[in-house]
Amino acid sequence: MIDLSIKKTQIALRDKKFTCTELTQSYLDRIKQTDETLNAFITVTEEVALRQAKKIDEAGDFSSPLSGIPMNLKDVICTDGIKTTAASKMLENFTPPYNAHLYDRLLDGGAILLGKTNTDEFTMGSSCENSYFGSSRNPWNTDYVPGGSSGGPAVSVAADQSVFSIGTDTGGSIRQPASFCSVVGLKPTYGRVPRHGCIPYASSFDTSGPMTKTVEDAALVLQVIAGQSMKDATTVDTPVPDYSEFLKEDLTGMTLGLPKEYFGEGVEKEVSDAVMEAVDVMKKLGATIVEVSLPLTKYAIPTYYILAKSEASTNLSRYDGIKYGHATDQAKELEEIYMKSRSEGFGDEVKRAIMLGTYALSAGYYDAFYLKAAKVRALMKQEFEEVFQKCDALIAPVSPILPFKIGEKSNDPMAMYMVDVLSTPINLAGICGLSVPAGLSASGLPIGMQIVSNQFEEGKLFQVGHAFEKATEWHLKKPQL
Ligand code: GLN
Repeated sequence: MIDLSIKKTQIALRDKKFTCTELTQSYLDRIKQTDETLNAFITVTEEVALRQAKKIDEAGDFSSPLSGIPMNLKDVICTDGIKTTAASKMLENFTPPYNAHLYDRLLDGGAILLGKTNTDEFTMGSSCENSYFGSSRNPWNTDYVPGGSSGGPAVSVAADQSVFSIGTDTGGSIRQPASFCSVVGLKPTYGRVPRHGCIPYASSFDTSGPMTKTVEDAALVLQVIAGQSMKDATTVDTPVPDYSEFLKEDLTGMTLGLPKEYFGEGVEKEVSDAVMEAVDVMKKLGATIVEVSLPLTKYAIPTYYILAKSEASTNLSRYDGIKYGHATDQAKELEEIYMKSRSEGFGDEVKRAIMLGTYALSAGYYDAFYLKAAKVRALMKQEFEEVFQKCDALIAPVSPILPFKIGEKSNDPMAMYMVDVLSTPINLAGICGLSVPAGLSASGLPIGMQIVSNQFEEGKLFQVGHAFEKATEWHLKKPQL
């Protein structure tokens, strides 16, 4: 019962194949059996989950879109009365007094919370190794990273510890771990899902979205969490379409663009070969394939990291040892409290963000770094606009490289940043992207394909992803634990 999609779980619940309490207990058992090795969860909310399940069983009503579906949230999504740590010593004991708006929407939809999952500290990283609680492990080979920052969410879905999870994506953090663990991950358009109650990294980039076992499940979850929120002024009133209408099995009439820069230097051959094989499948499904060019791709990493770290440096100033989180007991003066609390509470990558961002924003450097990067960002956005005149969606790898070993890049921040070269442009442009399983390497490690479309065109992502999924079996492959 624990390897089913949302759709199949709901049918089984409705047909009374098992109760919601039995289902929830099975997931809790699975977490107990596997999480010592995988370390996907920071907090398991057993009591909450069983209470929510009991309520669903007593009501016997499975009409809500996610009724009785056990899931988890990345541990930067606030949950009233439940610890939310951002995988940081700074928030190790922080319990929010309110729910993120998207969690309220999931609860209204009938979902069950199994726990809070692991991430790089404040979501800064691409491997999950920057967690104060230790890295999660890739279920396909536990010597390897699961990707990041949403490593815990990806692992939990790949290893059948949850039906789905909600991750966050500021510069690839949903799509890249989805690709490394062979699950589906959606980064929605900026403003499609409320950020209210999601602990910020870089506010003009941050998005939250589903990580699931199938594309259809991603569409189901987005349907529940999408839409304007009065609690987040950056959400928009663009209507939320009925995403189920896009789940066709045919791509006739669709034009898919292959951005040549996404298959060039630095992309491992096994990765680009797998994506090109997927392109052949989509051609057979009726899609027209065209080559396109996004020449500014080469500036994505410096542009993204200057802007994201600048925003991070201001967002993180709220952690001062007074209002929130860790407070030093080694200081007497106010300034000393700030400095020591921050020095003790933050890990290396977060400190690097504060230093880089503060530098890029400081008088004398602002024009040369922050402003320049903001201008490049505007040009990149324009470049995508032009490309979407010629095609409905883009096809590319998610990560230029296969999952790497734990420890392999942890002392080389630049090498770690380069992993995001094909995912950050989508965040810079504020558009949407979907990662779907598209292959396994000779060494048995997952390869993901990225489908990208314009603002509020998530439906097109689902159409392409679903048709591909129906024609292939990559999404059915499971790691042997
Ligand atoms: N690796 C990127 C960073 O550290 C992206 C992280 C994310 O999307 N949250 O900024």
